[in-house]
Amino acid sequence: MESKRKNRLFQHSTMAALVGGLFGGTTTFKDLMKHGDLGIGTLNDFDGELIIVDGEPFQIREDGKAYKVAPEDTTPYATVTYFEPDVLFNVQEAMTREAVEEKIASLVQGPNVFYAVKVTGNFKVVDTRVAPKQSRPYPPLIEAVKTQPTYHFEYITGTIVGFFTPKYISGIGVAGYHIHFIDDMRKIGGHVFDYELLEGVVEVAQQTEFELELPQTSEFLRSDLGSPDMLEQIEAAEN
Ligand SMILES: [Zn+2]
Repeated sequence: MESKRKNRLFQHSTMAALVGGLFGGTTTFKDLMKHGDLGIGTLNDFDGELIIVDGEPFQIREDGKAYKVAPEDTTPYATVTYFEPDVLFNVQEAMTREAVEEKIASLVQGPNVFYAVKVTGNFKVVDTRVAPKQSRPYPPLIEAVKTQPTYHFEYITGTIVGFFTPKYISGIGVAGYHIHFIDDMRKIGGHVFDYELLEGVVEVAQQTEFELELPQTSEFLRSDLGSPDMLEQIEAAEN
């Protein structure tokens, strides 16, 4: 039994693999969940958005609704950590996403390490999208996200979780913030484009280590994942 070390980032596979259309699940949730209680990612067949809150994984499907994830379900890309905040602030007056991110930046130790974030509270607005399920032969990421449904939620209580990734990690992860939302009732959510927080709490945990687990499928091992415009494709697909 592995010890549950706090704030040690664990990631399965890479953004580069998703850019290349490697959407087939390459690890189970049974295995993934050994490495954290908070996280984000996607699911087998790029079927929606993954959000793990308080040790419970949820799948947000194309209909924008949240579904339970089973231990035997699989994922091609996910990032998790055992979350223990070391920076925390309360929000009592409305803050835009930009304002929250500026405030975090003023409280942490610079942009060259990973941070896990958790924002819990009442939101005036949350704008999301959901990755649309794909089937083999998989298209590249840039094609897959062309038909993604978007959702606009207003006056909703819930939780945003995700990660800040340093720019130099681009290709392995998504540089900057990559965040997902789920509402209080665990009924709806998605990949977050933008939000405005009315009141709540922002928790941040600097990650002291990063473990990258690479798939051992021949598909992953033999694909050409060195697309010259990979970073542009990630930017276009994720932001
Ligand atoms: Zn996402």
